[in-house]
Amino acid sequence: MEYDYHCTVCRGHLRIGNKLVFSAKTRDNKYGLIFLSPELGDYTTEHHPDFDIQEGEEYLFYCPICHARLNHTENEKLVRIFMVDEKGAEYEIFFSGIAGEKCTYRMRDKEKEELGPDSEKYRQYFDLPDEYRKYL
Ligand SMILES: [Zn+2]
Repeated sequence: MEYDYHCTVCRGHLRIGNKLVFSAKTRDNKYGLIFLSPELGDYTTEHHPDFDIQEGEEYLFYCPICHARLNHTENEKLVRIFMVDEKGAEYEIFFSGIAGEKCTYRMRDKEKEELGPDSEKYRQYFDLPDEYRKYL
């Protein structure tokens, strides 16, 4: 299926061919580009060998077009983008910005779909009413 992915700020296309492209940065300012798979639940990543991605390290993700930070403001461990399916339906996609964590959440109209072996990790966050999320 050919889904499109958009930046939540500029709505620019993040999918090029069969990759999602992001600019990423560690807390100690190591920068690089990272490619992710557009297949939800496929956690294959590609990056230049000089951009040394460490398991368990937290990454900040940026739109490569407008440079907005895509980590969710309420929970910076989660990266938030939009997905549009072939019928034009829009979903919010959240995935972990921590290297090695395999979890994806797809939301639409309060319906949540979880993918990945680590999806339990942030489940509680999505099950809470909005006003409590900021305390996590
Ligand atoms: Zn953007």
